[in-house]
Parts: sequence; structure tokens; C-alpha cells
Amino acid sequence: MPALFISDLHLTEERPAANERFIGFLEDKARSAEALYILGDFFEYWIGDDDLADPFNAVIAGLLKDLAGRGVRISFMHGNRDFLIGERFCAAAGARLLDDPTVHEIGGVRTLLVHGDTLCTDDLEYQAWRRKARSPEFQADFLAKPLAERRLAVGQMREKSKQVTQSKAPEIMDVNDGAVREALRRHGVRRLIHGHTHRPGHHALEVDGARCERWVLPDWYGRGGYIEVSGAAPRLVRF
Ligand code: MN
Repeated sequence: MPALFISDLHLTEERPAANERFIGFLEDKARSAEALYILGDFFEYWIGDDDLADPFNAVIAGLLKDLAGRGVRISFMHGNRDFLIGERFCAAAGARLLDDPTVHEIGGVRTLLVHGDTLCTDDLEYQAWRRKARSPEFQADFLAKPLAERRLAVGQMREKSKQVTQSKAPEIMDVNDGAVREALRRHGVRRLIHGHTHRPGHHALEVDGARCERWVLPDWYGRGGYIEVSGAAPRLVRF
């Protein structure tokens, strides 16, 4: 049975088409999987597990839980939009939280899994924000605010991020080749799967004389899709 990988669904009530595609995926392809890996930016944003009271969020968690109940092992890794997902959401979704990075043996191959933002080292401004946002102090402070205030703050951040992203050169927002090689080397693996860049594809590279591969997941703003690993080579499938 295959392992399936998805990321960057950016689920929100505001994009019903992506939600429908996700439900279709859960009711069909995902049921045949042994494991489903969600590699971050599953939600457009996540302001804390107490927002599970929101009906949309509760429905999404319930859909995952239903899949888990069918015997599919669900793993969840934080993205840069939903890094505040915690144990409470994971319990509601029947998922376990994965560290970024994680190495798992998948289809007999030790595979490095990351969301992908840590590989975009040319974007110094983003990396500075990431360090701040991932600090326990920042998170404790943010989570102590009322939900309405958090929602407002995230709305403002999303607006600002849209403007900043438009002004950045596209190559700055892709992975840095040196960072990719360093990650493969450090973890002693030849295969890497990640999302985040919204540049789906398959890249071959050589690291210290070893043939390595980097697989990039598609976002679901457009058609969406997934990566399937069953036995031999991974397969990138677009809807
Ligand atoms: Mn991302």
C-alpha cells in the first residue's frame, strides 16, 4: 500500500474548490494508502488549537479522523502558515505531529521530509521572521491573546506578506541549492520530499558522488496533487 504526500493545500472556507478536491481525495485515493503525510501549510493559517471550535476547522479535523479510523496512518508537519498546530488538533484529527526535519524509511528508502521553508535560505527577511515566530516566547505571547485579536493580526500579516512576496525576485523564494545539498549530507539520505515553494517537480542532483533526488509537492491553489511512493520510484500526480 502506498504512502501519500500532500502539502500547501492552504485550506480555508474562502476557497471551496480546494476543499472539494480535498474531500474527493480523502474519499477515494487516500483510503488506499498505508500512510498519509501532510507536509505543512495544510491550512491557510492556524491561530491556535482553541480555534477548533470554528465549524470549518472542526469538519476538516473530523474528515482526517475518519480516514485515520480506516487504518491510514496520518502524520502532520508544520508549515509556515500552520506552525501553531498542536497536540489538541492532532488528537482531533487522529494524526501525529512530525518534527521538521524528519527522516523516515519510505518504500525502503530513507527519505528526508521537510516543509521546505528552511531550505529557502536566500530569503533572509523570511528566515529572520521564522526564527522569531518559532520562539516559545513569541508563541506563548500570541496564544495568550483572544481569538478575535489573533485572527485580526494574522489577517494583517497575510496582507503584508502578499505585498512583500510580490516585490521579491522569484529565485529568492526557491530553495537554495547549497542548503539542499547540506540537508541531504547532514541526514545521510539520497531522497528528499518537500513542499512550500509551489514549484512541483522532480530534481536529480549529485552529492559527494551519490545520485540524489528532490521531490517537490504541488500547491492546491490550482489543480493540486500529491506524491505517491509505493515500492520503486515516487510518482508526482496532478489532479
Ligand atoms: Mn509554506
